[in-house]
Amino acid sequence: MKLAMFGDLHYPMTVINRPDVLEARDAFFEHFLTAFLETEADYHISLGDLTNTGEIAEFEYIFQKVRGYGDRLRFLHVLGNHDTYTHPKAKLLSLTGQRRYGLWEEEEALVVVLDTARETRQDWSGFIDAEQLEWLESVMRKPSDKPLLVFAHHPLYGSTARSTEAMMSLDPSLDIRGVLSQWAGTGLYFNGHNHENSVVREGQWHFIQTAAPMDVPAFRIVTVEGGEVRVELHRLESEALTKWARTVGENMPYYEPYPSAEGNGTSEKLAVPAAR
Ligand SMILES: [Zn+2]
Repeated sequence: MKLAMFGDLHYPMTVINRPDVLEARDAFFEHFLTAFLETEADYHISLGDLTNTGEIAEFEYIFQKVRGYGDRLRFLHVLGNHDTYTHPKAKLLSLTGQRRYGLWEEEEALVVVLDTARETRQDWSGFIDAEQLEWLESVMRKPSDKPLLVFAHHPLYGSTARSTEAMMSLDPSLDIRGVLSQWAGTGLYFNGHNHENSVVREGQWHFIQTAAPMDVPAFRIVTVEGGEVRVELHRLESEALTKWARTVGENMPYYEPYPSAEGNGTSEKLAVPAAR
């Protein structure tokens, strides 16, 4: 089983109105999304902040490309705080046909998507509502020896890089660790939000944070195979791609290129046993 995922894409409908910026935007996102969607995988996942301001036109640009692949492509969109900038979640979900959160049970692994986004621009930290938290606890109690792969936009407080900075994690008052610790097997928690590659282990859980493609033109591949879960970073770097990304990233609202996005040497890949 193979999953492909990318971090905060921030596709912007609005950029500084200059021909070179518009050209760079169109070239970068066309190139990146094509390479990603053409990669063979059972699931293609966006870790949230797929769009820069949550405009319908931004979602349409992405989902038009996704739909071009028909039923053979299973795309999961995790809601990020930028995705909910403009429209309520219910409206976005009916537009994209996505579920707010859910469980996909496969032969080799359990796949869980969480909704950690708020519907406000003023507070960009993460939150999980009571209904969803209760549901998540029921997933943790499932008897299964498969690895559990969780996909969410926000990291747990005090897990991956920058997650103790203000609004750079899930609300610390939520006891998510207490919930996750009820899982008996191998667990991997994937998130975006902090725009820096980072991998941290806590007991049977690994927390894997992925940088924004405009800062690190790459996506991750997760393979569950031969009793192992492997996570790798698939780099797309070329001079042109890096230049386009810089031109867009420096000339759009609500986005700051992050200089330490690469993280340290341990954030590139890992391999863990699929069962404990
Ligand atoms: Zn972001």
